Amino acid sequence: MISVRNIYKTFGDLQVLKGVSCEIEKGEKVAIIGPSGSGKSTLLRCMNLLEEPTYGEVWLDDKLLTPIDPYIHYDLMAKTKTYHSLAAASSNGGSSSPSGVSDRTKASGIDLDVIRQIKDYDLLKKNEGSEYKAALKEMERVNRVDVNLARQRVGMVFQHFNLFNNLSVMNNLILAPTTLKLQSEAEATEKASELLNRIGLYDKKDEYPGRLSGGQKQRIAIVRSLVMNPEVILFDEPTSALDPEMVGEVLELIRELAEEGMTMVIVTHEMGFAREVATRVMFMDGGIIQEENTPKEFFANPQNARLQEFLSKIL
Ligand code: ADP
Ligand code: MG
Repeated sequence: MISVRNIYKTFGDLQVLKGVSCEIEKGEKVAIIGPSGSGKSTLLRCMNLLEEPTYGEVWLDDKLLTPIDPYIHYDLMAKTKTYHSLAAASSNGGSSSPSGVSDRTKASGIDLDVIRQIKDYDLLKKNEGSEYKAALKEMERVNRVDVNLARQRVGMVFQHFNLFNNLSVMNNLILAPTTLKLQSEAEATEKASELLNRIGLYDKKDEYPGRLSGGQKQRIAIVRSLVMNPEVILFDEPTSALDPEMVGEVLELIRELAEEGMTMVIVTHEMGFAREVATRVMFMDGGIIQEENTPKEFFANPQNARLQEFLSKIL
């Protein structure tokens, strides 16, 4: 459903994501754990394009959310001026290719040694000629989708709720679907009422967020994402800002959604929850996914030394 392909993200001189790839399949519940500053939030934000990755691509099913990254499409790279001149040089007996050139190379007619060289030394330039430009444009036309369209399908729940304090609960809930003209006010209100009833907070619909507890606010924030009928929800430490006695009610709601089949990615420090609810757990450290496994194996049998250390500190 979500495919993250070799993404890098830098802020100024700070390299935060250093080549992250992962696939989130429909129905999966993926927990991400890792030390503070390891890039967990940045990864989630890249998944729904709140941040644009510096390199790499994010796909939602067969729709591309980011610009095309030529470095992960050999057929595109092979249309660049840089490729043509390097390939010509190497076939002129410059650096002869090593013996076992793969069948794939021959079949596709693409010189993988040249591709490797371009990748390793980041050789692509701004202007790579009209053949390349046309191919790039066509690929974007076929695959790329408006980010707003995609974002409707990917809900996000933040650590600090991000509700509008000057709007009532109901107005918070219907704001996005009505502003984006996805639902009429009546439809959105009906859907929101249903969901508020479900979490036992219908009587708070005219209340302002400032008068609610943290646990109530976070459950409202989850409902706000549900009003949009998302296909997947990204949770970024949904319980980290809560007083301990409110963690349970929020986790319970997330657990119910998981049991109903919602696809989710959840960054969390709640190891018990990750172990019980997740279908897969990932450990991020230093901008890389260092390890991933089923929860059982992940916690019983961690391989990575940093993960072992991390778990020994928090368990
Ligand atoms: P985590 O969620 O794992 O704690 P983050 O993804 O929030 O980590 O942040 C990783 C690093 O990137 C941190 O050093 C953080 O300060 C930095 N960072 C995150 N967002 C920005 C930004 N918009 N501008 C500059 N630095 C950022
Ligand atoms: Mg974070």
